[in-house]
Amino acid sequence: MDSVDCIVIGAGVVGLAIARELALAGHETIIIERENAFGTITSSRNSEVIHAGIYYPRGSLKARLCVRGRDALYDYCERYGVEHRRSGKLIVATSEAQHGELEKLRQAAIGNGVDDLRLIDRAEALSLEPALHCTAALISPSTGIIDSHGYMLSLLGQAEAAGAMLAYLSPVTRLVPTAEGIELHVGDEPALRARHVINSAGLDAPAIASRVEGLAPEHVPKAYYAKGCYFTLGGRAPFSRLIYPVPEPGGLGVHLTIDLGGQARFGPDVEWVSEPDYSVDPRRADRFYDVIRQYWPALQDGSLAPGYAGIRPKISGPGEPAADFRIEASGTHGVAGLVNLFGIESPGLTASLAIAEVVASLVAQAG
Ligand SMILES: Cc1cc2nc3c(=O)[nH]c(=O)nc-3n(C[C@H](O)[C@H](O)[C@H](O)COP(=O)(O)OP(=O)(O)OC[C@H]3O[C@@H](n4cnc5c(N)ncnc54)[C@H](O)[C@@H]3O)c2cc1C
Repeated sequence: MDSVDCIVIGAGVVGLAIARELALAGHETIIIERENAFGTITSSRNSEVIHAGIYYPRGSLKARLCVRGRDALYDYCERYGVEHRRSGKLIVATSEAQHGELEKLRQAAIGNGVDDLRLIDRAEALSLEPALHCTAALISPSTGIIDSHGYMLSLLGQAEAAGAMLAYLSPVTRLVPTAEGIELHVGDEPALRARHVINSAGLDAPAIASRVEGLAPEHVPKAYYAKGCYFTLGGRAPFSRLIYPVPEPGGLGVHLTIDLGGQARFGPDVEWVSEPDYSVDPRRADRFYDVIRQYWPALQDGSLAPGYAGIRPKISGPGEPAADFRIEASGTHGVAGLVNLFGIESPGLTASLAIAEVVASLVAQAG
């Protein structure tokens, strides 16, 4: 059986960032991907927002890796020509009752090291975005948007230039730790052995972890799926910044993002599902109209078209507090050479380069 230094399971944005980091650190690295292309699952079904790092509990991995990853990502985009824009964003209160929420967000952001948020009144918000209805807003200048496909292409190009290889159509089915390393089964066959295996399979990371021989079940979280649908808006975007309501349980609320081509889209909403399913039920638009009109009353009937859906790879269920990212090596679970990544939902795209640094340092520590 062939042996390599590092295997990364999953060619999403996080797996690609990890593979690049490992390859640049001199590790022989192979990325194993189930699909026939990279980034076709959650990494191409998101809002493509570079988050500032506002919402996450102080000291959490989400908070720290978002802030660090955001700065690293802007630098990366500028250095390697990945299309992006520091569009800025407004988080809007649509009644005075929500002003306390804005202040809580501002304080949480300061705790996370995001000190550029400014509370603005209605008049200032309307001078920036005349179509907006709000009673006050927080403005976040360090929020932006990115061409996530271009970013992944760039990560893969750099990983390959540093010697990494990507194998498509290779579903990992089993991992068997041995004295020589971890044996990986692809389909029905043992395929490869590696000293380090990084389980970066997104929605499937818990399922893969459950197929690691000898990994105790308490180190395998239950997977929950929180689907988010998007609807696109025909015609010109009414705003030049991203517009977010105050957050709702399970997600950030139905917000407006604009892609680099100027197309406006609204979403994602939150629907807990038992299995990943990417259909967009046009009837869900009914609720979108009501929510969006709270901050954009001019939204015309019939102007929203079903867009796409993504599934948040949750490891906490409905009604439970949101779980932090989990990045776990042998010090946590006892299986030498294995790093599991669980719950890499938003802000995983923003945090991808910072997550890659953490994984590379765990690999370096393992030797
Ligand atoms: C609706 C939504 C909106 C979001 N918006 C944002 C945002 O605006 N900004 C932000 O920073 N983050 C956002 N996120 C989060 C971000 O999209 C994810 O954190 C990120 O894409 C996760 O990347 P990943 O590589 O971990 O997972 P994925 O992209 O899911 O990649 C995992 C890969 O593993 C492969 N795989 C699975 N099983 C196997 C197997 N058995 N063998 C081999 N390969 C396998 C899959 O095919 C897939 O390619 C959003 C997420 C959602 C759902």
